[in-house]
Amino acid sequence: MAAVSSNQDPLAPVAAALFHPLGVDGVYARTALYEGMIERLTAWISRQRDPRAEVLRFPPVMSRSQVEKSGYLKSFPNLLGCVCALHGSEAQIRTAAQEHETGGDWTRALTPSDLVLSPAACYPVYPLAAARGPVPAGGLLFDVAADCFRHEPSRALNRLQSFRMREFVRIATPEEITTFGEYWMARAPQLAAELALPCKLDVASDPFFGRVGQIMAVSQRQQALKFELLIPYHEGAVPTACMSLNYHRDHFGGVWQLANAAGERSHTSCFAFGVDRLTIALFCVHGVDVPGWPQGVRRALAI
Ligand code: ATP
Ligand code: ZN
Ligand code: MG
Repeated sequence: MAAVSSNQDPLAPVAAALFHPLGVDGVYARTALYEGMIERLTAWISRQRDPRAEVLRFPPVMSRSQVEKSGYLKSFPNLLGCVCALHGSEAQIRTAAQEHETGGDWTRALTPSDLVLSPAACYPVYPLAAARGPVPAGGLLFDVAADCFRHEPSRALNRLQSFRMREFVRIATPEEITTFGEYWMARAPQLAAELALPCKLDVASDPFFGRVGQIMAVSQRQQALKFELLIPYHEGAVPTACMSLNYHRDHFGGVWQLANAAGERSHTSCFAFGVDRLTIALFCVHGVDVPGWPQGVRRALAI
């Protein structure tokens, strides 16, 4: 059986303890060792939550029209996965499926359903909040999570196609959004320190698609709309973005008509934890022998 990472990869022994290959790059079966730590880390993230936050958990699929309306296809058309199915009469579906038996391509008969695979955890929360009416004084705060999909197949341990994302999402006035962002920017390096993970906080840009995307990325950096908490998985490694803070300004407010009672358009921001990336970071930095992890880390994670 092929290993998840190549033999030259210094992280190959870690990968072998955490994952089993499933035949597609970036999609792995997870071991008990790994899932146990995911649970510890998830509980640790919950302890960071503002008690006023409303908790919502989303399925791994979401409304296609909501993603379309959010503008995802303008920014990341290459990453989106759409749920397709065989539609039609029994005879049509049977004919299409039988294509496979005769060596043909059954997938040509697929047509899109009204679902996409969620590309990030926070997209469904904006229309959901908007449907409740005006944003109350003091704004809104959510704790959301979803299994996310991005079509970016890779052998690298830190780039999965299917991964878990946890986000604290704020919908509020521009001033309140600034406060939220400043809080999490100060907090992120402290959180990494609690887990004894080396890190660097840096201004960042999204991986926007294509040449136009490069211009969008430069503008996003110039306006300091995205920050990442970067963790090197081993000495000399290109650091991995394990948490990220995103300022959307009034983008989602405009798309979903989010406004307060006075009619002032809301701003939004989210602070995302890459749950899988953080868990992998723990194993890469501290090793696969959990009883040997630093005391402080074990205490933080309630191990
Ligand atoms: P990258 O720059 O590494 O491509 P990103 O900037 O696209 O990541 P975000 O859109 O900010 O990532 O996603 C929020 C969080 O989800 C990231 O901080 C990261 O921890 C995690 N994440 C993003 N893409 C992946 C992936 N392919 N595999 C695992 N975790 C991911
Ligand atoms: Zn988000
Ligand atoms: Mg990034």
